[in-house]
Amino acid sequence: MTRRISIFGSTGSIGLSTIDLIARDPEAFEVVALTGGHNIARLAEQARALKAQVAVTAHEENLPELRDALAGTGIEAAAGEAAIEEAARRPADWVMSAIVGAAGLPPGLAALEEGATLALANKESLVTAGPLVLATVEANKAKGARLLPVDSEHSAVFQGLVGEEMDAVERIIITASGGAFRDWPIEKLADATLEQASSHPNWDMGQRITIDSASMFNKALELIETKEYFGVSPDRIEVLVHPQSLVHALVGFNDGALMAHVGPADMRHAIGYALNWPDRKALPVERLDLAAIGQLEFRAPDERRWPALRLAREVMAEGGLSGAVFNAAKEAALDGFIAGRINFVRMSELVEEVLTKLSGDSSLIHADITLDNVRAADQMARKTAKDMIEAGA
Ligand code: NAD
Ligand code: MG
Repeated sequence: MTRRISIFGSTGSIGLSTIDLIARDPEAFEVVALTGGHNIARLAEQARALKAQVAVTAHEENLPELRDALAGTGIEAAAGEAAIEEAARRPADWVMSAIVGAAGLPPGLAALEEGATLALANKESLVTAGPLVLATVEANKAKGARLLPVDSEHSAVFQGLVGEEMDAVERIIITASGGAFRDWPIEKLADATLEQASSHPNWDMGQRITIDSASMFNKALELIETKEYFGVSPDRIEVLVHPQSLVHALVGFNDGALMAHVGPADMRHAIGYALNWPDRKALPVERLDLAAIGQLEFRAPDERRWPALRLAREVMAEGGLSGAVFNAAKEAALDGFIAGRINFVRMSELVEEVLTKLSGDSSLIHADITLDNVRAADQMARKTAKDMIEAGA
């Protein structure tokens, strides 16, 4: 039986890896929707190659170009946020959520409401609205709704928990490569250039997550993602710096055992696991030769180098919509860094200032976790951060 598949963010790094896997077995899949942003040539080429039902660009101004590129193919072209959500409501069995940023939340929720299995690369969904996402899964379970992790650490934990009881889990350890500036003198970080921050030692990823790896905002988001997805208290979640990025996570049990997940730094493993779940099938990833690798290193993270980790712990303690504030402030700070408006170190300072400024507003932070309230918290935090950047703060 063919499976109906949609990929949100198909033109990005995770999207490309997902397509690499499904294109190896075209008979097994029927592609419903593909979505992208400004890379219309790539989106159209993907839609043609996979015979998608519909291709959607996030930006209205790109619609004429997309229409032209798909002329005569019978593939529908659409644009804008509402069109992305409409595409997410089309019947599909397995949906990849790989848009970057808070924009990934609405289509993911829509797909879950329609009873799809949502393979979640978009960690921002759980950071901004974890309880809402999980409640949506629960409410639509009878229709088949299910959430599978794609972030490599969370896939690793998920795999480590197969056949285990959560009662026996003492702690969860997610690893971090340390990113581009792991070994830089801390006082040099303020001078880090965009180019330096955009190159990752081990993983080939989109630019935003690559910079977030250097600042550890990526790991900060993943701490919150771990808390939300696995329902463990923050004091049981640890970050461990592991420069080789081969151990992705460890689950610690109450008998002292640590189950480590070891695999190549290739997202096709975690994507493929979610695609084939609950089965395991052969995947086209490297088989590690540990004798040749020789050594694996581990270090404690330094919170002076990576203040984002401390901020994530404060956000987890605060709860409510502080994750939405944190993520939006981080996205705005990242935009500011990419645009050359603020320096690398200023990003975490700015996020902290936005958190402090908005934390007193309990009608914002502790409102019910609905999509509207998540959007309101997101917009307020984004605006606060942008205003601070504009003011040259
Ligand atoms: P990317 O930048 O390579 O791709 C992002 C995709 O989202 C593109 O298709 C882009 O067109 C689309 N997009 C961007 N802004 C959008 C918007 N406002 N509305 C709709 N679509 C938009 O990013 P990526 O590295 O593939 O990451 C995607 C997600 O997966 C992120 O949440 C990231 O944290 C997560 N993730 C990525 C990796 C990785 O190896 N790349 C690993 C783990 C988790
Ligand atoms: Mg990760």
